[in-house]
Amino acid sequence: MTTSKKRVVVARQQGGEGAGVTTRRAMEQLEWPPKGALRGRVLIKPNLLVLRPASSGATTDPDIVRTVVQMSLDAGASEVVVAESSNWGVDTDAAFEALGYGKLARETGCRLLNLKEDSFVEVEVDGQFMKRFLMPRTLIEADYVINVAKMKAHRMTYVTFGLKNMGVGSHNDDQKEEMHRIGNYAVLSDEVMDRGSGLDHNIVSVNLACRCDLTVVDGLVAQEGPGAPLTGGPVPAGLIVAGYDRVGTDVVTSTIMGIDPTTVPHMVLAHQAGLGEIDIGKLQLGGVPLEDIDVSFEPAINLDPGSFAPPGVEVVVGRACYACLGDLAYFIKRHADELAQLAPATIYVGKVGPVKPPMERRHLVFFGNCAGEHLYGGGFATGCPPRSRRQVFQSLGALDLYTSDENIDLSR
Ligand code: SF4
Repeated sequence: MTTSKKRVVVARQQGGEGAGVTTRRAMEQLEWPPKGALRGRVLIKPNLLVLRPASSGATTDPDIVRTVVQMSLDAGASEVVVAESSNWGVDTDAAFEALGYGKLARETGCRLLNLKEDSFVEVEVDGQFMKRFLMPRTLIEADYVINVAKMKAHRMTYVTFGLKNMGVGSHNDDQKEEMHRIGNYAVLSDEVMDRGSGLDHNIVSVNLACRCDLTVVDGLVAQEGPGAPLTGGPVPAGLIVAGYDRVGTDVVTSTIMGIDPTTVPHMVLAHQAGLGEIDIGKLQLGGVPLEDIDVSFEPAINLDPGSFAPPGVEVVVGRACYACLGDLAYFIKRHADELAQLAPATIYVGKVGPVKPPMERRHLVFFGNCAGEHLYGGGFATGCPPRSRRQVFQSLGALDLYTSDENIDLSR
């Protein structure tokens, strides 16, 4: 029997069963591995964004990866490499050890690879903004690639599952930062305003450059709300989604989260680029029926950042893309107490047109390059979007109020 490439399976954790049992059930229902598919080197790409455990909703559960490693070896892989590049400023080797992957490697015999330290090869693709860039050699040369992503909301791209995990999680720090920024300014043009941030396009470019044979999405504990995908709220959804079609698997995961996949720009762009199926009606669904799943998620993107502002803090929103809106909503929600100490204050975001800020505002900040075009007094958090929360406090003249608790570089 030939396994359908359109098959996507949802498995639900039952009772107190371990993550490995649920994973194995998903893989078996998917009829994985396809006959004769596994040979040579298998590369598994988890999401170890930051040093937070799987129970926080931020990172891939090591017991899911352990099961995939074991099943790959049983199916004939000559070598299994678990490869990751954590968030910029985060030590991937430390993440491997802290999150249980060091133990996993010692016990299964797989190899851990810090992708930030891999050698890189230049690739060329027909992307919107990124046409030539560097990719890790081990990823490009792998014989079979399994993407073990996490189910999370995302403040720049609505959601992050398989496409995003591969699209931005595979590079060194400099390239990651570029991918979050290249093209953002261009998307404010009339032609492409509705098509997402530059990041959405760059995710597709990277996916065009590498294979992805299987996607497994860890939704045992997912993450929601402003702050996701780093510091959002955990959602114990108890689900694993697995499929061969990288777009189709994301489409099913997005539907589970209650987000219409046709409103997620990078999914639409990936489908248009020929990377997979966006029409859920054309996928072959298996496992738990979607109508039997009842989980709700708070989005990470809020197009009205001012709704989180404390009294006395005014937010003026101009023509802005998701990148600035999402980051600013997170900034304000997270630092509402500190901002309250600065009231009265005004924050401008996006192309706001010529402004004459109220003179009595002691604290005034233009958030992002678009707003800075009409700078008139006040502080300017440069960037597209601004690089760090620290930088915004600096622009507000209140660096003493900045604190970080993410176990990542203090410049963030
Ligand atoms: S400055 Fe902000 S709103 Fe303007 S394009 Fe860049 S990220 Fe988008």
